Amino acid sequence: MLLLRVPCRKITFHALAVVAVTQFALGASNISPLGKRPEWSSLKQYQETITHDEFARLLQNIYCPRGVDAELILIDSEGARLTIDREEKSYFNLRFARDEQSQKPAPRSWRPATALPTAPKNLDLAGIKVAIDPGHIGGRWAQMEERWFQVGDSKPVQEGDMTLRVAKLLVPKLRRLGAKVSLVRDKAEPVTPKRPADMTEVAKQILLRGGEATPREDFSGPTDPEKEHTIRWQDELLFYRNSEIRARAEIVNAQLRPDITLCLHFNAEAWDDPRSPRLTDHNHLHLLVNGSYSQAELEYDDVRFEMLQRLLSRAHQEELPLAESSAAAMARRTELPPYEYTTENVIKVGATGYVYGRNLIANRLFQCPVVYYEPYVMNSDEVFWRIQEGDYEGIRNVNGTDRPSIYREYADGVVHGLLDYYRAARNKPRR
Ligand SMILES: [Zn+2]
Repeated sequence: MLLLRVPCRKITFHALAVVAVTQFALGASNISPLGKRPEWSSLKQYQETITHDEFARLLQNIYCPRGVDAELILIDSEGARLTIDREEKSYFNLRFARDEQSQKPAPRSWRPATALPTAPKNLDLAGIKVAIDPGHIGGRWAQMEERWFQVGDSKPVQEGDMTLRVAKLLVPKLRRLGAKVSLVRDKAEPVTPKRPADMTEVAKQILLRGGEATPREDFSGPTDPEKEHTIRWQDELLFYRNSEIRARAEIVNAQLRPDITLCLHFNAEAWDDPRSPRLTDHNHLHLLVNGSYSQAELEYDDVRFEMLQRLLSRAHQEELPLAESSAAAMARRTELPPYEYTTENVIKVGATGYVYGRNLIANRLFQCPVVYYEPYVMNSDEVFWRIQEGDYEGIRNVNGTDRPSIYREYADGVVHGLLDYYRAARNKPRR
C-alpha cells in the first residue's frame, strides 16, 4: 500500500525531515537516515559502458524528470562529472562510450531475458532466478506498520499477511514453470535484527532538525494528530520502513542475487481511523519501476549514488517491459482501471497506462530489475468483502458477484505477466 491520499501532515513533516537531515549531514557526507556511505570508486566498472545520448535520455526521462542540479551531475559530450561531496568539491568523472558499437558491457549480477538460453517446452521460466518480496511484515507488527484496519468485529485486514499469502501461492506455480524462486520473507516477522528502540538516536536527530527540541516520547494511537512529532512514531517508522527494507536488500543483493525481484503489495486509499475505517468505492491497479527522484532526494549522496548505479546497470531496460507485460496481464485478470496519481512524485512510463516510475527504498536498493505490484484498494467495498472471504478454490459469489479467490487471481496475474514477457523476450536480440 502506498496510501495514495496521504494526510498532508505526514508529507509536510517528512519533507521537513528530508531537508533537515541534509542540513544536518552537510560537512560530513550527507547520507540519508540509516543509509550507507557510497563507494564512488566502484563506478569505475561503468567507464565507457554507456553513450552520452542513452545516459542523458535515462537521466532526463526516467530518473530525474524534474531536473538535477548541475553541481551534482554535469554532462558534456565526453562524460558526466558526478559530485562525490558538494562541500569538498570532489568528483567522479564518468567517461561515455563513443557509440553503441564501442560501448563495453555493463557489469551486473542479474541476467536480462535476452541473455537466457532458449526455454524447454512448457518451462518458459526455466533457470530464471526470481526473488519474491511480500510487502510489509504483518502478524503482530501489522498495527505498528499502519497496515491494519478492522470493520466492526470482522476479520482485521493486514496487508503483510495478504502479501505473504499471495507469495506462497506463487512459489509452486513459478517453480512448475522452471523458475528458481526464493522468498525474501517467509513468515510474519521482520528480517532486520533491529527493533524500534535501536532507532532512537536517529529519530531524535530527525525530530531535532524538524524543529522539535523536546519531542514527546509517545503518542496515543493511530489517530493522534501529533504522532509524527514523537520519538516512538519515528523509531517505529525507521524500523519497519527503513531498517527492515535495508535488511531485505542485503538478502537480495548478497545472498539471492536474482534476475528479478517481485515486490507484492495491496493498495489502499486513506482510511483515517483503522478501528472504524472509511470504505471507498474506488478500486484500481498500478505497477511501479524505479525512477522520478526529487531534487531533495538527489541531495543525499547515497541516494544519488544508488540512482546512478541503477541507471548504469540498465535495470530500467528490463524492468519497464517486464512491468508492462505484468500490468497488461494483471489488468486482464482483475479488470481494474489504472490508478491516476494526484501527487508529483511519480512519472508515467510505458504505454499501458498502468506503470509509473517512483523512487521507493525497495526498488532503489534491490540491485536487479524490480517490479512493484499495487493492485486492489484494500478499503474498497468490493475488495473488503473478498478479503473477508479469504482464499478458496473455484468461484464463489462474493457480495453479489462470482469471483475467484482474490489471492489466486493476484497470483495468476503475476504468473501470466512473467510468461508473456519471457516467452516474447527470451533470445530476442537487443542493443
Ligand atoms: Zn504496501
